[in-house]
Amino acid sequence: MAEPRIGAIEAGGTKMVVAVGRTPEEIRDAERFITPTTDPTDTMRRVLDWLREQHDDDPLQAIGVASFGPVDFVRRGIAHSTPKLLWRGVSWADAIGAAFGDIPLGFDTDTGAAALAEQRWGAGRDQDVVVYVTIGTGIGGGLVVDGRIVHGLLHPEFGHMVVRHRPEDDFPGTCPSHGDCLEGLASGESVKRRWHRTGGPQLPPDHPAWDLESHYLVDAVVNIVTITAAHVVILGGGVMSVPGLLERVRSGVRDHLNGYLDVPALTTDIDHYIVSPQLGSAAGAVGAFALGRDALA
Ligand SMILES: [Zn+2]
Repeated sequence: MAEPRIGAIEAGGTKMVVAVGRTPEEIRDAERFITPTTDPTDTMRRVLDWLREQHDDDPLQAIGVASFGPVDFVRRGIAHSTPKLLWRGVSWADAIGAAFGDIPLGFDTDTGAAALAEQRWGAGRDQDVVVYVTIGTGIGGGLVVDGRIVHGLLHPEFGHMVVRHRPEDDFPGTCPSHGDCLEGLASGESVKRRWHRTGGPQLPPDHPAWDLESHYLVDAVVNIVTITAAHVVILGGGVMSVPGLLERVRSGVRDHLNGYLDVPALTTDIDHYIVSPQLGSAAGAVGAFALGRDALA
């Protein structure tokens, strides 16, 4: 029997990426529809019109949405606390229901979905407890345990954990809610503002910015390891493409833990423990596909 055909919506804060397929490879390689995230009515119409055309050609059996957050799991949409004012309270479930009737719908955060994709088909394959964190303009992440994205009261917010503000760093941090949380100190946006960059070429790899960055990321990964006992920690996002940064984080985490968690993954084998993602920019869409497929089960 053919695999079900799934519509995958990666609903990012700046753009929407939409794809259809029966396998993660198809989602990754097939033609995608990409449209900017503007006001919700127009954006959802463009996304759902494209998906509807695909559906009319060859019916979809389910849809998955991997959404920017914070999200509201009850209404399956955007939470009222989002800084994107027009998107407050907007429900994907309502919009998809209006366009597709009662088609099965999977819904989660974009970073949770990316974590799920990496756990199924990427750098966290065959591992039970997987953490994925993306360090880009902002910082977000997902925790997957036994094949499911963990939610509780809300969803984990890796970007807003507390890290030790270094004494040599007088930058107050960029987070509008917390100032010097992890995202406030270590996101791409905070690096730019601390060092007064307005775009243009990236800071060189030997710039002190990256030494500071590695300190904050070491604190973050130590927190993750000690709280979740993850089998693997995947660090992605644009900031992690800085040469040498991943290596500095690995050695910093190993040094900080100091053998206390005495397993090879955290000592001699840390290069296979703190790793880069394997699905790259496709993780969100592939994650949305996974959510759609799970909604059928
Ligand atoms: Zn914060």
